[in-house]
Amino acid sequence: MAVSYKDLGLVNTKELFKKATEGKYAIPAFNFNNMEQMQAIVQACVETKSPVILQVSGGARKYANQTLLRYMAQGAVEYAKELGYNIPIVLHLDHGDTFELCQSCIEYGFSSVMIDGSHHSYEENVALTRKVVEYAHKYDVTVEGELGVLAGIEDDVVAEHHTYTQPEEVQDFVSKTGVDSLAISIGTSHGANKFKPEQCTRNAEGILIPPPLRFDILEAIEKKIPGFPIVLHGSSSVPQQYVKTINDNGGKLKDTIGIPEDELRRASKSAVCKINIDSDGRLAMTASIRENFIQHPEWFDPRQYLGPAREELKKLYAHKTVNVLGSAGKA
Ligand SMILES: [Zn+2]
Repeated sequence: MAVSYKDLGLVNTKELFKKATEGKYAIPAFNFNNMEQMQAIVQACVETKSPVILQVSGGARKYANQTLLRYMAQGAVEYAKELGYNIPIVLHLDHGDTFELCQSCIEYGFSSVMIDGSHHSYEENVALTRKVVEYAHKYDVTVEGELGVLAGIEDDVVAEHHTYTQPEEVQDFVSKTGVDSLAISIGTSHGANKFKPEQCTRNAEGILIPPPLRFDILEAIEKKIPGFPIVLHGSSSVPQQYVKTINDNGGKLKDTIGIPEDELRRASKSAVCKINIDSDGRLAMTASIRENFIQHPEWFDPRQYLGPAREELKKLYAHKTVNVLGSAGKA
C-alpha cells in the first residue's frame, strides 16, 4: 500500500533549502516519535511561522510504527491548518543505513530521506548514496548524504571520534551521487555528552566552553560547492537548566556539554540550511516530567505530566526557530 507524500500534504526539501540558503537561515529538523512531541513541534512552528522538518530515525520508526507515522505526518499537516497556518512540513528519515530502509520509508509517505554511508569506504558511500538517489528521485523525494563522521551516540549511530569532512571530496561526491543536500562533520556531535570536560575550557563563571566548530572547514566546503545545501547533525545546545532540573530531581546526567547557540546562529547564516536538534527535546521533556513526579507524587494520569512536558518542548522549539535558526516568519 504505497502512498506518495504529496497525497499526505507534505513537501520535500528542495524549495525550502533554496529559500533558506538565499535568506541565510536554517530549517529546524526536530526528531519525534510520539504524539506530544509532534504536537509541540507543530504548535511552535505554526506560532512562529517556521517551516519544519519532522525527523524520524530508523529506531524511532520501529518504536512508533511505520503505519502510524504515516498518519501522524498527515495529521501534522491537517493540525497545522487547524491551528491557523499552513506551514511547509517535511517528513524525513534520519540516518537511513540501507537502501531497503530508504525505499520502505518512501513507500510509506516520507518526502525526504538520509542515506548515511559515512561509515563505509568513500567508493561504497558513493555507490550506496547514488542507488538511493536514483530510486528517490523517481518519486520526487529528496536525499541527504553524509561525508565525514560525527563523534557521539544517537540511537544506533555510534562513533568514538570525529572524522572531519574533507573539502577536497565534496564536489566529487555531490556530482557522482546527485544528492540534494550534504551532512558534514565540523565538530558537532551526537547525544547530550558532546565533549569531554578535558576538551573544554572554563569561562569566568566556571561554565565549560567546548572547542569551537571548524568554520574554516565549512568555508572551504562552501567554496567547493557554492550554494549547495549543507546539513549539521548533532546540534543540540544541551541547556544546563534542564540538566540541573533533571539532576535536582533524582536524575544522574554527567558531563553534559552541547554546541553554543551563537555558533549555530552563525552557521545558520552560511550554506547550512538544515540543523538537527534531538537531545535538547529529550532533556526538556525529561526535566519537566522528573520535576512533576517529585512535586506531585499523587499524580497518575499521564496527561498531568505529559501536558506540561509538551508545553516545555513547545517553548524550546519556538526559541530555536526565533533565536537560533532564524527560520521564524519564513513559512
Ligand atoms: Zn545525526
